[in-house]
Amino acid sequence: MVFGVGNPEADLMFVGEAPGFHEDKQGYPFVGQAGKLLDRLLAGIGLSRADVYVANVLKCRPPGNRDPQPDEIEACEGHLYRQVELIQPKVVGTLGNFSTKLLSGKPTGITRVHGQEQKTKIGGRPVLLYPLYHPAAALYTPAMLKVLEEDFGRLPELLGRALDEAAPGPAPSQVLAGIAPEPAVQLGLF
Ligand code: URA
Repeated sequence: MVFGVGNPEADLMFVGEAPGFHEDKQGYPFVGQAGKLLDRLLAGIGLSRADVYVANVLKCRPPGNRDPQPDEIEACEGHLYRQVELIQPKVVGTLGNFSTKLLSGKPTGITRVHGQEQKTKIGGRPVLLYPLYHPAAALYTPAMLKVLEEDFGRLPELLGRALDEAAPGPAPSQVLAGIAPEPAVQLGLF
């Protein structure tokens, strides 16, 4: 079983599809070639694996790396939702079609929605869902890799925005507009 790995306090979480050969052997997600690309993409935005949490839709390797089947997704999805609830990320980068469709709850494929953040709720908490091409698909398709790099490049801005929105106090837009925050306690007249 390959559960997930990373920073339990992470604001940014990634969800892939399913463990492959190397993940199955080592017990960790994204340790093969796709994982090396994920590491490079993270380094490109000044992050490392120690900053994020990484999991998959399926917790076990599908035989021969075939696509996850509906009954397998159903068997594993409760674990994924619970992981998101426990980690409490602000942004969830879904890598590829399976995690994007599962967590968005929509059938629209990754080619149409990549790079478009969606506000959603997972486990009752607001999360910014950010669909991305799967690194394994981008490994052998230079045009897709370029798009993945560009989409990845927006992550710092999205994280900043999600953190601002989650922070208590006035929204940055209020500060810019010179609107004073409501005092926590009304002062008495005397
Ligand atoms: N591909 C995935 O979707 N997950 C992994 O953990 C490795 C490759």
